[in-house]
Amino acid sequence: MPSPSPIFAEMEYEHTVFLKPRKEESLIRRHPWVFSGAIRKIDGHPKDGDLVKVCANKGRLLGYGHFSPNTSIAIRMLTFQEEEIDGDWWRSKIRQALKVRSDLNLLTESNQNICRLIHAEGDGLSGLIVDYYDRVAVVQTHSMGMHCALNEIVQALKVELPELKGVFDKSSKLLKKIGLADVEDGLVFGSLPEDWSPIEFGRKIVIDLEQGQKTGFFIDQRENRSLLSQLSKGKKVLNVFSYTGGFSIAAMQGGCELAHSLDSSKRALDLAEESVTLNGFDAKRHKSIEADAMQFLKNGVAEYDIVVLDPPAFAKSASARHQAVQGYKRINQRAIQTMKAGSLLFTFSCSQAVDDRLFTHTVIAAAIQSNRMVRILHRLHQPADHPVSAFHPEGAYLKGLVLRID
Ligand code: SAH
Repeated sequence: MPSPSPIFAEMEYEHTVFLKPRKEESLIRRHPWVFSGAIRKIDGHPKDGDLVKVCANKGRLLGYGHFSPNTSIAIRMLTFQEEEIDGDWWRSKIRQALKVRSDLNLLTESNQNICRLIHAEGDGLSGLIVDYYDRVAVVQTHSMGMHCALNEIVQALKVELPELKGVFDKSSKLLKKIGLADVEDGLVFGSLPEDWSPIEFGRKIVIDLEQGQKTGFFIDQRENRSLLSQLSKGKKVLNVFSYTGGFSIAAMQGGCELAHSLDSSKRALDLAEESVTLNGFDAKRHKSIEADAMQFLKNGVAEYDIVVLDPPAFAKSASARHQAVQGYKRINQRAIQTMKAGSLLFTFSCSQAVDDRLFTHTVIAAAIQSNRMVRILHRLHQPADHPVSAFHPEGAYLKGLVLRID
């Protein structure tokens, strides 16, 4: 161990990472990622997931974070000051995140019991997602450090959310990617309440915690679904990349004439149908189409008044950006070209590597090639329970446009 810097002599950490000159600037601005290329030397032998002390080149303390040697983000910062990361620390972080949601009235509305409780960097907890579905929290840890802190996280959730009945860990897929093969998804506390009934603005949602994608549902589209609901009365709606039919249920709630859900996953479509029945909607107004979206769009969508395009992230990294842009352009062009005059297109991208501007330009390029009159009516984003740290703009991943096609 090197002798600790005299200023911070009180706390001794086993592992200290020193950054290269000038690489501390983004951390001083509270951006929470340290890339492997920024590291000059490491004192100690930290393992994946260990808490490390991070110092600037000349020894100034920058904070503490989780070490992650096998990914390009080598350290995910947890704090930018001298403090101990113990049970009290986790409780305080989780309490702050809950306060943000309760101040938004998301935990107290009678027709709404779904929200994101912890949005990684947006809540100062890089590597951690926690979603809340009617008294049940679903946790996704994206790093070994967060995986190792699972117990503290669950304890803190139990203390800060007294109504909590269960915590489901849904991290196994993500952890396999970083080499942890023996983790299984499942309840790590409590059980699902017998009367479990997740509701999004009055819409009952069937959620499959075991097999579902992400934490089971895409909470981030809540407000955009409500906008669709308001515009759907009497309309024929096509929901492409529907997953479990979130947008279709919203359109039906708004009184659409029909809603067609299109997805390549039979399992997701089955759940969409369950949700239609659960909400008491006439099943004849809904149809599931199991198909490949690209192929389907080739045949034209002229019979619909509203089309929703909400594909999975086409670009999972900056290197895939160009190809992703081509993908967005292609699906949007295929839709815009054949949509009827006066129809609406809700089009989205959830790729972090494709920012707002690039997405808008891509959709405009598709509109130009379609040779149609196209107006932007709404610009859509992720809701406030998916906050974006002002110092981590990469957190703004969801963007959408509502276009009127004439
Ligand atoms: N709009 C949804 C979320 C969409 S997630 C909601 O509001 O909940 C993306 C969906 O696209 C997944 O369900 C996935 O099964 C589906 N998908 C991916 N590739 C596809 C393809 N080529 N054709 C059709 N569906 C596809």
